[in-house]
Amino acid sequence: MTATTVRHFPMLVGGEAVDSEQLLEIRDPQNGELMATAAAGGAKEIDAAVEAAKSSFASGEWSRATPTHRAQVLHAVADKLGERLDELVELEIMANGATIRQATGFHVGYAAPHLAFFADLAAKYEFETPMPRATFPVLGQSTLRREPIGVCGAIAPWNFPLLLALWKFAPALAVGNSVVVKPDEKTPLTTLEFGRIAEECGLPKGVFNVVPGPGPEAGARLASHPDVGKIGFTGSTDIGREVMRLASGTVKSVTLELGGKSPALVLEDADIDLAVDGVLYGCMLYSGQICESMTRLLLPDSIHDEFVERLVARASTIQLGDTRDWETDMGPVVSAKQHERILGYIASGKEEGATVALGGGVPKGEQFERGHWIEPTIFTGVRNDMRIAREEIFGPVLSVIRYGSEREGIELANDTPYGLASSVWSSDNSHALEVADKIQAGSVWINDAHQINCEVPFGGYKQSGVGRELGPHALDPYTEVKNVHLDLSGRRDARPYDVLLSHADD
Ligand code: ADP
Repeated sequence: MTATTVRHFPMLVGGEAVDSEQLLEIRDPQNGELMATAAAGGAKEIDAAVEAAKSSFASGEWSRATPTHRAQVLHAVADKLGERLDELVELEIMANGATIRQATGFHVGYAAPHLAFFADLAAKYEFETPMPRATFPVLGQSTLRREPIGVCGAIAPWNFPLLLALWKFAPALAVGNSVVVKPDEKTPLTTLEFGRIAEECGLPKGVFNVVPGPGPEAGARLASHPDVGKIGFTGSTDIGREVMRLASGTVKSVTLELGGKSPALVLEDADIDLAVDGVLYGCMLYSGQICESMTRLLLPDSIHDEFVERLVARASTIQLGDTRDWETDMGPVVSAKQHERILGYIASGKEEGATVALGGGVPKGEQFERGHWIEPTIFTGVRNDMRIAREEIFGPVLSVIRYGSEREGIELANDTPYGLASSVWSSDNSHALEVADKIQAGSVWINDAHQINCEVPFGGYKQSGVGRELGPHALDPYTEVKNVHLDLSGRRDARPYDVLLSHADD
């Protein structure tokens, strides 16, 4: 790649391509090469985007369009995303280091069907529900209305840049809101491209605005902006707390999808071959950089040694390599900062007395000398109070913890500040369902992992978040509920004004 092929991406504000002096450099995580630049915004650009969103909302062109029209436009965008999949995959890979297989199948591949799902929900959404006619205290009729909030903000992370932004802006758009999206500063390209595609497909200008920029400036301004009525956020628990605090200044509602330390609880009656593959898929997919990754493997004493032996043998076959090669299983981690952080956690695991059963460092070979590479790493002999068992590492690091009784296994699974996801492995469905009942997590996948399906809700217990995304009620958080009451008595004397005005009828 030469400097002449570096593409530039301006911000999208009010339907215009807007540049700024501040540039974000988009570098390929596998070798550090400069791939693109993007204009970066701060508080001023967020203010302009909110203003554009506000006036597009007021115009009514989108906010008062029929649900059918909105659904048609969103379906047209979904079709275009499908047609331009390869191009979008390349934009995603060059910024976040996903492999072509993962980005095509999941990171970008899910965007079109998920958008189509939101469009379908929009078309059949109950914007008005008549309530039963009331006769007490007087004859009247209430209608429950669901109205768009106005301007909604979305703050997205770098691991699934387009998809996780879309889980916020798509339900917001589906019910008529205007939106401002703040992508992560490392990965703004696919969201910016989405904006262009959406306008080509008939989304009115100003309804969808994108301002990439530093979190503490652009993100913080969006979260605290008085004219933004709702924030959808995915990211770390620490920043989620900060977003919640900033949003509290103007009492805006928040949906937060935060960190995780998900357990894979293997029961004594598990199918070991299936569980070995499932646990590796659950932990190592996208180098472990997924909030719901199964990073704590809980194994019963009775099968521990055999399981670990097969696990290590299977994990040794994971091929690291060029992210654009269809044969590659695992790519790099996203940035130098993450690389250092993950190596720090690996060092802390060793210091606290865990045993490295596989990996534990940077892979050897010329192609791994540049970029941010980490070997698939398995620690055994981990105690649940070690840092590698308690804190979110966001890297290809699996912590194996032994347990004695099943009760102890369940206690360990729940002994975490997080509660995003979990998996239970057993060849007896009723046994697995019984255990699933006792797990405190927003998703329990039995004999599977990463089962993100747009038709079911996703989100966390405890410090993994607030609210849910996806599922049949995905549009509700982007609406206000209004009760409109119509008095039908037609009689002044039927109204209970006399509790205040005793001679009202005199
Ligand atoms: P990660 O740990 O996965 O990098 P972060 O929680 O740091 O995730 O970031 C998620 C998103 O939150 C990014 O878009 C980032 O720019 C944004 N962000 C970071 N700091 C703040 C902040 N103080 N206020 C609002 N948004 C922020």
